[in-house]
Amino acid sequence: MTANAHPRRFVPADLEPSNFPRTQALYHDLLDRPIQTLDQLKHWLTDFSELTSVVDEYGSRRYIDKSCHTDDEAIKKRFMQFVEEVEPGIKPLAFALQRKYLDSPARRQLDQKKFGTLDLRWETEVEIFREINVPIDTEITKKVSEFDEINGRMTVQFRGKELTLQQAARYLEDPDRPTRQEAWEITSRRRLVDADAIESIFESLLPMRQKVAENAGMRDYRAFQWKSYKRFDYIPSDCLRFADSIAETCVPLVRRIDRQRAKAMNLASLRPWDGSVDPLGRPPLKPFDENQIETLVGKTREIFSRLSPDLAKDFDQLREHGNLDLQSRKGKQPGGYLMPLEESRQPFIFMNAAGLQRDVETLLHEGGHAFHHLAASRQEDIVFLRTAPMEFCEVASMSMELLGSEHFNVFYNEPDTLRARRKLIEGIIYFFPWMAIIDSFQHWIYTHPGHARDERKSQWLSILDRFGGAVDWTGWENVRASLWQRQGHLFHAPFYYVEYGIAQLGALQLWMKAKENPRQALANYRSALSLGGTRPLPQLFSAAGIVFDFSPKTLKPLMSALEEELSALPP
Ligand SMILES: [Zn+2]
Repeated sequence: MTANAHPRRFVPADLEPSNFPRTQALYHDLLDRPIQTLDQLKHWLTDFSELTSVVDEYGSRRYIDKSCHTDDEAIKKRFMQFVEEVEPGIKPLAFALQRKYLDSPARRQLDQKKFGTLDLRWETEVEIFREINVPIDTEITKKVSEFDEINGRMTVQFRGKELTLQQAARYLEDPDRPTRQEAWEITSRRRLVDADAIESIFESLLPMRQKVAENAGMRDYRAFQWKSYKRFDYIPSDCLRFADSIAETCVPLVRRIDRQRAKAMNLASLRPWDGSVDPLGRPPLKPFDENQIETLVGKTREIFSRLSPDLAKDFDQLREHGNLDLQSRKGKQPGGYLMPLEESRQPFIFMNAAGLQRDVETLLHEGGHAFHHLAASRQEDIVFLRTAPMEFCEVASMSMELLGSEHFNVFYNEPDTLRARRKLIEGIIYFFPWMAIIDSFQHWIYTHPGHARDERKSQWLSILDRFGGAVDWTGWENVRASLWQRQGHLFHAPFYYVEYGIAQLGALQLWMKAKENPRQALANYRSALSLGGTRPLPQLFSAAGIVFDFSPKTLKPLMSALEEELSALPP
């Protein structure tokens, strides 16, 4: 399949959205067209969807290019042209089209089961959209790009080699304690060099975000983000209660695991560089050679094919379309993501693989997002109906990590397979308190506009005290105080983090179901994915055979199940 498997019908084949006047003319064409009858509306929606896909894919490709080459000026310029000229020009036009849709008398004749959630989303977007916020959003995007550039430039000299911080992180798994302490200290000191600059970027974002909220008639940015994320099925206090039950159920478990680890390592207490290493001093898990990305791709494909031949077929499409950029390089933005390419109806996976077990988990994770995007875009021509709420998107990806973990033996022998599985499960248990930390921190930040740097710092530290593990940070208090700077979500997507916790509960449920009946669980998974964004969250969860709930009622039994799973695995 190539991009012209879905030929353009409305947008001229040679249109490049960087040509803003030509692109704008198409939006005006749509604005001027009557949509009184159902036929007119359907035709118009198809064209609007096509135009949106073309512009969206163009922007996605500019972003992908930029994140693969943060040090290339020409690429950066093309990205900035999109961000500064095209996007701000299009936002108000797209908004006017959404409003036009909402005003159409024919829209109630559309299939309400399918369009009901779209209507609610667009009504909310219209409710919070303000023209005066467009230039502020542009400023915010530029500021956040500065944060990415600073991170992309960070390298360290470690034992005669220049390494990215992701590459240096490998040494945190080194059984030799002085080696990993040195690697940890070198990377931490390198981060401290830019800590003030990053803090200043963050501080310049806060008043802009508060202003965006006030402009939209909202008290604070939290209320604004709630609407902008279309969180219709839970409220802020649900998240705070979620954090409470994590403090109650999960934090004690984490501290137990920390103390067991210290004991296994013969240490009086764990230091920050002791968390990733194997407690019994075995060499780090090496699923593949960092220079042989094809091994990672091929073996991950094998896992997908064991789960279902359909998943393997989907995964092949990414390779065939050249939509994988997986290797860590200098100048590459850190992290990993899946970027949908809406016109081609293909997803792109970006990550920084360095030969670690974590890379295996990341590729399984992003693979799950890819299956979601492919399933939804096969099913749905209208781009606006394709994307599920984030809380369910992460069920799609996190389930793949858990289901895939049953087949880690494609990478490892039996003992290492069990080690890798333990690592994944411990990672999930450790994730919940960290999620609660990041979420609680943001609830505080955005409901305390105008707070001082010191107040934010002491709030951060007291949250760490509440949810942190049993680790001794003596001498490195300044690193602990700026740990939040490593969480890109705080910069890129405020409040977008609790989704991972909600979704993890979904993924864990799905995994438990798969232990009972793998075939049925996978069939449910795939059919829920194909619903895309046409159903509200509770219905998507129930289509996958799981419940949408993050109260202690769901959390507690899953934590017990994980603890039991761990006790059956060797240390
Ligand atoms: Zn994800």
